[in-house]
Amino acid sequence: MGKISLMLVLAGVLMAVLGVSDEALAKGDDAAFWNARPDAATFARVQEERVQKAQAALDRLLAVKGKRTLQNTLAPYDEVLLYLDAAGQQAGLMQEVHPDAAFRSTAEKISQKVSAFSTDLSLNRAVYDALSAIDTSGADAETRYYVERTLRDFRLAGVDKDEATRRKIKALRDELVLIGQEFSRNIRDDKRTVTVNDVKELEGLPADYIERHKPGPDGKITLTIDYPDSLPVFSYARNEALRKRMYIAYNNRAFPNNMAVLDRLIAKRHELANLIGFKTWADYITADKMVQTSKNASTFIDRIVQASTARAEREYQVLLKRKQQDVKDAKNINAWEFSYYSELVRKASYDFDTQSVRPYFPYDRVKQGVLDVTGKLFGVTFKQVKDAPVWNKDVECYEMFENGRLVGRFYLDMHPREGKYSHAAQFGVRTGVAGKQIPEAVLVCNFPGGIAGDPGLMEHDDVVTFFHEFGHLLHTLFAGRHKWVGIGGISTEQDFVEAPSQMLEEWTWDPTVLQSFARHYKTNEPIPTELVKQMRRAAEFGEGLRVRRQMVYARLSLSIYDREPGKVNTDALVKQITEQYQPFPFVEDTHFQTAFGHLDGYSAVYYTYMWSLVIAKDMFSQFDKANMLAPGVAKLYRDRVLAPGGSKPAAKLVEDFLGRPFNFEAWQKWLNEGS
Ligand SMILES: [Zn+2]
Repeated sequence: MGKISLMLVLAGVLMAVLGVSDEALAKGDDAAFWNARPDAATFARVQEERVQKAQAALDRLLAVKGKRTLQNTLAPYDEVLLYLDAAGQQAGLMQEVHPDAAFRSTAEKISQKVSAFSTDLSLNRAVYDALSAIDTSGADAETRYYVERTLRDFRLAGVDKDEATRRKIKALRDELVLIGQEFSRNIRDDKRTVTVNDVKELEGLPADYIERHKPGPDGKITLTIDYPDSLPVFSYARNEALRKRMYIAYNNRAFPNNMAVLDRLIAKRHELANLIGFKTWADYITADKMVQTSKNASTFIDRIVQASTARAEREYQVLLKRKQQDVKDAKNINAWEFSYYSELVRKASYDFDTQSVRPYFPYDRVKQGVLDVTGKLFGVTFKQVKDAPVWNKDVECYEMFENGRLVGRFYLDMHPREGKYSHAAQFGVRTGVAGKQIPEAVLVCNFPGGIAGDPGLMEHDDVVTFFHEFGHLLHTLFAGRHKWVGIGGISTEQDFVEAPSQMLEEWTWDPTVLQSFARHYKTNEPIPTELVKQMRRAAEFGEGLRVRRQMVYARLSLSIYDREPGKVNTDALVKQITEQYQPFPFVEDTHFQTAFGHLDGYSAVYYTYMWSLVIAKDMFSQFDKANMLAPGVAKLYRDRVLAPGGSKPAAKLVEDFLGRPFNFEAWQKWLNEGS
């Protein structure tokens, strides 16, 4: 997942990932966002000024007397967004990456201010009335769509309700933020552990794992339920009892604390949806998505479940056969045995060790590979800006050129450091606006490398992540040439935004593409074709069962929000859906829903991951698998899908590229036969 989706959820109506620098506005074109190293106070002052300018533009909009026009109403409204989102995005970035803790907390305060401003704006009836009064009949298609979408988003925020209702809506939204924070906090703060009485129980785990977990004075070993401790147990521990204990502990995180919190979250969201005029929260939250209704989302999940039946069953039988080598009369695979037997099957059938590809992926080569591959595909070149005064010394600044013209700028903040955002995401800095400012964005990752003398050998997973996040970045840059900031950049539907990135991942599985940059850091030998093929085969095992697991999440996420809260018993739903979609018997006394953070952030729309993957597979079917670096289709894709940004509904963009609406064929073929 990228940062963008989260921003879309958090920002509500103001969903574009935008930004602008005062300097750029002053110069009218291409000055960099980060062209000095301000201290926290200066940074805060610059952003405060933006908020004030947003307020001034808003005041101008409201002061208009007489006929509402694009010029006197939409233009100042778009200017409000321009300033707000610049402040919001830049503060949002700095709170995650600035090396100085005091700077980060200053940035956090600015983010809160911007978000409060945005919430108020989304419920500002006078603004809505003014925008509604614009006559757009003579406007171009993009502008008409912009106004239409904006008005819809205002209505979805509840702006057209009476004042008392709006007050209630605001209070509910504020309360929901607090409940969501409590839900996350309970997950974060659950420090339960699993006790191991004898080091023998750790048999099968890697030596460095056992080394890291020495017995205490009482001879007992303590394991936490965090990923680095729990995942290796599921994959490698030969001791079944240990795996089972870990499974139960892991699936009780934040239980029982979050049971009641989740119920409150569900009830309050339902109440909010009702106030805005929807029957359920699921109906409300899907209304601005490609999927449009909760019923469509439900049908989609059914379809994916149905389509994955054969493969999931096949894989389950393979696992069961493998287990029967160890346990003669085994009748089933238990949930805590899935990873363990998958690993054994992979080793026996595909003879692939994930570590074996790392020497071919030193960070610098991979970075150059990402730039060369995408540059060639999309007809652009990248040039590093040396000595750019960025926020940390290892951050690099690049500019993107097309036919010699500067069209975008980005920053790569790619290696871990203390206090920095610990996942991988693309952050917007400012959306480009035609004739006004070029787009800027940042990749924030935590890859190996960046240390003198360290080749920074990456896992293939890291390479996939790099391409994925770079896909978001290119989307931002290519979509930065619209007239209005509000339809530029990745201001597209939440269930579409991952598709371009998921599609770009395909380039990391092609031997020829990989061989164009992946060379052994010592011998300079390109990665062998056979090794890439082996890696692919190994990665594909378990895909059917993984799809089923994803559908458990998707169905649960939808089900708790698509009915009256009084009819929601989350324990019963978890059990019922798990038994329905997965071949493993349900494990009593587990409650994974209490630590399923997406139930807050994504609420009812977890389906979006699979939805956008179906689209990604379909779009990818247009490319020539035998020559993945051919530029023709890529250029078409760039022009019809990426460049339009949020100026058309996503379904239309996909149709413009495919020449037909998207369908399941390519996805189904991938699932049946591998890509
Ligand atoms: Zn993403």
